[in-house]
Amino acid sequence: MQINNHERINVDDRNLCKLAISELSSIYSEIGLSQEELDLLDMPRRSFIVHFPVRMDSGKIKMFVGYRVHYNDARGPAKGGIRFHPELTLDHVKDLSFLMALKCAVVNIPFGGSKGGVVVNPKELSRNELEQVTRGYIRAIANYIGPFIDIPAPDVYTDENIMVWILDEYERIKREHVFAVVTGKPVDLGGSKARSYSTSLGGIYVLEEAMKRMDMDKFEVSIAVQGFGNVGENAARILHEKGYKVIAVSDSKGGIINKDGLDIKAVMEHKLITGSVVDFKESCNITNEELLTCECDILIPAALSDQLNSANANDVKAKMVMELANAPTTREADNIFFDKKIILIPDVLANAGGVVVSYFEWIQNLNNDYWEEDKVLERLKKTMIIAYNEIHSLCDEKNCRMRKSAYQLALNRILHAEKLRGNL
Ligand code: GLU
Repeated sequence: MQINNHERINVDDRNLCKLAISELSSIYSEIGLSQEELDLLDMPRRSFIVHFPVRMDSGKIKMFVGYRVHYNDARGPAKGGIRFHPELTLDHVKDLSFLMALKCAVVNIPFGGSKGGVVVNPKELSRNELEQVTRGYIRAIANYIGPFIDIPAPDVYTDENIMVWILDEYERIKREHVFAVVTGKPVDLGGSKARSYSTSLGGIYVLEEAMKRMDMDKFEVSIAVQGFGNVGENAARILHEKGYKVIAVSDSKGGIINKDGLDIKAVMEHKLITGSVVDFKESCNITNEELLTCECDILIPAALSDQLNSANANDVKAKMVMELANAPTTREADNIFFDKKIILIPDVLANAGGVVVSYFEWIQNLNNDYWEEDKVLERLKKTMIIAYNEIHSLCDEKNCRMRKSAYQLALNRILHAEKLRGNL
């Protein structure tokens, strides 16, 4: 079964949690959290494990296990994606739901953090089985989601078609229309304009703000993008359309480089025909490893985790790294970049554009009033730039890296909401 690669950047983000947890423990000791605060942050508010039957195409019933975790909802309804993955565990879902709580707090949208999913390999299911698994899961968790409780969205191996089944199943159960129960829907059924490329564009808004601060000239910088899935391809396309020089791109089969800049539209056509960016005319083939260390000013990892590590971080020549993927940089590489004064825009800010436009989708659904694309983009830009500036000021104040400031900002917001509620 072919599933489109919407949001597939997250496939291997276990490292994200490791990195976040090591960063968080250092922040905890630095900002001196009280035992009460630590206890409150240490565990999710609600974790659900469900088992549900699905009639497979063979006619036989198979039991599936699903999870949904609301890590923290002090700032608003819980928000986070649903993933279908054969190795999903409750612990992993818990970690990811915590990261969603941080992400929503970083960009200051009124949501808590959640995550969920089903232990299943969607590639082994027919389209009908995929639909039945989705519907079975939603029947099992229907009491724990809702527009003012917890709002799912796409994540690894789930896309807008699956969001429609989620919506439809939930509405059958509730016997009413409830568009705002799920985001990442198609535009023709309650989705928001620009949601499909909002992760890439949100990152680019932040990047442009960072470049302004560093006096980097748009027409002089060269950019390399690793990954040509939904997020990487849209990032390269938008940068190219804005007039930037994108000199290198890659996918899982390899990369291409042209120091004078690539015609990204033509590269996209080439990929459509051949299945890869490799062997594109007017460029030289390079490996993914070579792309990461090529001569460029800005490096955008938009593929897998762990790509920038102790083995190659010293060879990175870019002045700025923007993490559109989740956790492309290991802790060691992060330290090396800090020492080398390479600016790193962390994932928790750089790829938050997706959930920001999910928030706009939710607002539009609740008001039954749909925005023009311009309005979505304007508000996305404003939200991303405010978050960037807040994180940047905190960095200046504490002389620390952006990842740490972002986490600190998020934790302060969550704890403040808990205090206002009288939970601390
Ligand atoms: N799965 C995406 C993320 O991890 C989007 C979540 C959402 O839109 O709620 O950021």
